[in-house]
Parts: sequence; C-alpha cells; structure tokens
Amino acid sequence: MNFKRAVIKVGSALVSPDGKGCSGKYLLSIARFITECRQEGREIILVSSGSVAAGRNLIQHGSPIPSISAKQAMASVGQMQMMANWQRFFDVPCSQLLVTHGDLKDRQRYINIKNTLRTLLANDIIPIVNENDTVAIDELKVGDNDNLAALVALVSEADSLFILSDVDGVFNKDPRSNPDAVMFSEIEHITDEIYQMAGGTTNHLATGGMLTKIQAAEKAVDNGINTYIVNGSRSEVFDSILRKENPGTHFIARNAADKAKKYWLKHTLKSNGQLFLDAGAVNAVVNKGASLLPSGIVALAGKFNAGDSIDLVNADNQQIVAKGICQYNHRDLLKIQGQKSNEIQTILGFCLSKVIVHRDDMVVLVK
Ligand code: GLU
Repeated sequence: MNFKRAVIKVGSALVSPDGKGCSGKYLLSIARFITECRQEGREIILVSSGSVAAGRNLIQHGSPIPSISAKQAMASVGQMQMMANWQRFFDVPCSQLLVTHGDLKDRQRYINIKNTLRTLLANDIIPIVNENDTVAIDELKVGDNDNLAALVALVSEADSLFILSDVDGVFNKDPRSNPDAVMFSEIEHITDEIYQMAGGTTNHLATGGMLTKIQAAEKAVDNGINTYIVNGSRSEVFDSILRKENPGTHFIARNAADKAKKYWLKHTLKSNGQLFLDAGAVNAVVNKGASLLPSGIVALAGKFNAGDSIDLVNADNQQIVAKGICQYNHRDLLKIQGQKSNEIQTILGFCLSKVIVHRDDMVVLVK
C-alpha cells in the first residue's frame, strides 16, 4: 500500500457518534493519522460528513423527521461546528470547500475546483470538502459523501481513497447477525454479487450504508484510484495503514492513476479545438515536461470552453504533439495568445491560471 495523494472520507458515525453534535472521540486518531501521512510527504484531502448531525440539537424541528428547510438549517450551523471540531486537531490551517453535483458536472467549475485544490495542497493546507447541503436540492446533489469522495478523488487526481466508517470492511454476509461472516481483504472485480451482499448491510451502519461505498469504489477504481474501506473507529487500523498493511477491504485499481488519466485524455475526450505552438513551446512541452504558457501560442482554431480538451499542434508542421485540458475558453484565449502570463490579468481583467494547459492535464503524443 503506497500512496502520494489520498482522499479520506469520514462518515457521520465518526464525526458525531451519538448524532447530537460533534465529538472528538474518533477524530483524534484520524487527525493523528493525517498528520503522520503529511509528515511522510503525502497529500491529504478530507471529505467530512456530519454537518446535519452536528447541527441537529441547535435547530428546533418538532417532529422526528425534520423538514428539508430544518435539515438545511442544521447543515448550515453544523458545518461551522464540524469545521471547528476538525481544526482543533491540526496545527496547520484547514480550508472548507462546499460543492454540489452541479458544480462537479460543470466543466468551468470543475476546473476551478481542481485549481483550488491544487493551490491549497501546494500551500500545505488541509482541504475539507462536504456537499453544500444548505443550497443543494435533490436534483443537484451527489446525495451521499461516499460518492462525493470518489468524485473529489477524481477531480483532485488522488491515487487512493480511504472510506472510513464504523465497519471493518466488506463481508460476505452481515457480520452483526452472522458470526461466521468473512471479510474480503481484496476485491478485484466489483460484481453484481458484491452489490447484493452490500445491499444487505445498509441500515444503521454509517450514513449512506455499504451500497454507496461500493458505488464510490467502482467510480474510483475505474479511474485508477485504489480504494479502501476501513474501520475509522479503531486507532490500530491507522497504525496498520502506516505500516503499509491493509486492515480492511481493498478495491484494487484497474490501472495506475496516471495511466488511466492519460488513457482518458487520449482516447475518451473529444478535442474541441487546436492551439498552434511555436518551436519553443513545442520543445518545452515535448522535451521539458513543461506546462503550456500563452506566449508560445501563435494561433488557435475551434470553439471551446474552459475545461474542454484541445490538441496542441506544432505550427511548423501541423503535427499534433499533445492533448490537454484548456484553462481558458477560445474567446479569452484569442486575447491572450502570444502574451506573457503576467499580462493575463491586465488584458482579461482576471487570471484563472497563469498556464493555458497545466502539465498534469496534458498527455504528450510524440517522443
Ligand atoms: N453531507 C451530509 C452531512 O454533512 C452527509 C452525507 C453523508 O453522510 O453521506 O451531514
């Protein structure tokens, strides 16, 4: 078990074990684990549930099942409590990102989230993500934080996803009523049978249940992200992970994350335009592992939005040398092509990014 960048999802059962406000009971050992990972040079993004549970006691709701507006008010007040609860376990700053499915589906917002996470990690901050429950209506929601964590792992290009809950892993039957239940330590293929087993173990386990955890694992492993379901209520679980042992269920990634991403960029994403590069930019991109700057672009073709895929073409011989995700739409790019990065702000009045195609969002197609 080796990882460089991981998303750690912490369920409500750990943040608010009795469902009445935040508790430090389990967070202390989780935070210690995160701190040790960071000290070893790994990057960590947290996806934390618990805002509704944390705010539950603070909003009067009259009936056992709160109305949507009462729940949204709970999330609003609970989110602050939950963030404050996390922050007290870290010496480094934490940051809050509240997103909805609508944000992750929109190319421009997707790339904004990606850039923000990249910047936060580069500044040694611990990003803490939750769904923006206060504004999200059902159609725009991911709905559960297991699937949200998988999407965050994708947008942040993590290589691993740890889903922490109060169960040890995935069992062939419900371990609470079947003492002979066996835990799978590795799952290579997520079959219908696995889904059926998980379906039987939902109810009072962590919010979302096992089903959403398997869905999340499926999304992640398809994109080269190793996924682990582990018991976050047992501190020895973290010692095992630090010893590179697997204490729960490991869903094995189909491909290495970078290979999966390159495949996706190269084969799955349709290009919506072309940027024509001068010889210096071609050399920088092909031979020096550099990002593409506006100064190296001599012309462009096609209509595209920020976040769309584009071809990088050698202007001298029309050869496609790379493919990547463009940070700007074609209208803005027409204004800044050939200019220095420092001029972007003056020309456009804003600067989304100093590079046009980030190195991490690019696949080089020639040697
Ligand atoms: N976003 C919800 C909250 O913070 C949690 C959703 C989930 O537990 O899956 O309360």
